[in-house]
Amino acid sequence: MRRTVRYLAPFACFLILTVGARGFSADTLDGRAGPAPEGAMKTIVIDPGHGGEDTGAIGPRGVKEKDITLAVARELERELTNKTQARILLTRTFDTYLSLEDRSEFANSVSADIFISIHVNAAPRKGASGVETFFLSFEASDDEAREVAAFENNVVRLDGTMDGAPMDDLKAILWDLTQTEAHHESSKLAETIQQSLSGVTNGDNRGIKQAPFIVLFGATMPAVLVEIGFISNPAEEKRLANGKTQKTIARAISDGVVEFEKLLIKRVGLVEVEGPREKN
Ligand SMILES: [Zn+2]
Repeated sequence: MRRTVRYLAPFACFLILTVGARGFSADTLDGRAGPAPEGAMKTIVIDPGHGGEDTGAIGPRGVKEKDITLAVARELERELTNKTQARILLTRTFDTYLSLEDRSEFANSVSADIFISIHVNAAPRKGASGVETFFLSFEASDDEAREVAAFENNVVRLDGTMDGAPMDDLKAILWDLTQTEAHHESSKLAETIQQSLSGVTNGDNRGIKQAPFIVLFGATMPAVLVEIGFISNPAEEKRLANGKTQKTIARAISDGVVEFEKLLIKRVGLVEVEGPREKN
């Protein structure tokens, strides 16, 4: 949704300090015996979309996207804490504004192994329903994907510039980004999450899509944006606001993450890296 373009670096620092102060350590978090398998994730960052004055989409009954994304993120945090040995960090843990850039920068700063941004869709057509998972690309995979990205980005001007950056520069940056191992892994992460999530939704399986989401631009690790349903659809709005549904969605996303981790451990279907993966 549209919001004022602002960069609140001090706020971001405060948030990072707040999250960091939780004192998680990958060695002590899980409390289970034995070391994590080789290739297992050490840090997962969950990004509840929007927050503060940036409400995100608002449903016909007044449910706000920012509240749904935070509730599902908290559930996802619980699920992943139980199912993985990674430390689980959120970009925001309360109702506060955070720029799109700050979110991926936070993931980079804690050397996250994956970044999952949670959002809720909206469409002019009331009947639109279901879930879709995005990963980054310069070209949107279809018109609807382009509209979702424009909706979520809100700082990308449709005349082809972003924050004054020339189009050619953006193209070059995105080309570089999409040539990385992390980008290849993003598609796999999108696949495992979408497969799991589509199994629990009452709406359509809208599939895996690609689009130029700003929140994914700066992430140096596999990164996806999950649209968990349509707040513009009255039936889905009601469902999404329900705690039980939020838990079901979170569980499905976490199952997808666990499947992805299995691929990381086995390196099945993933590009081999040159040298060891950088870890914190
Ligand atoms: Zn959103």
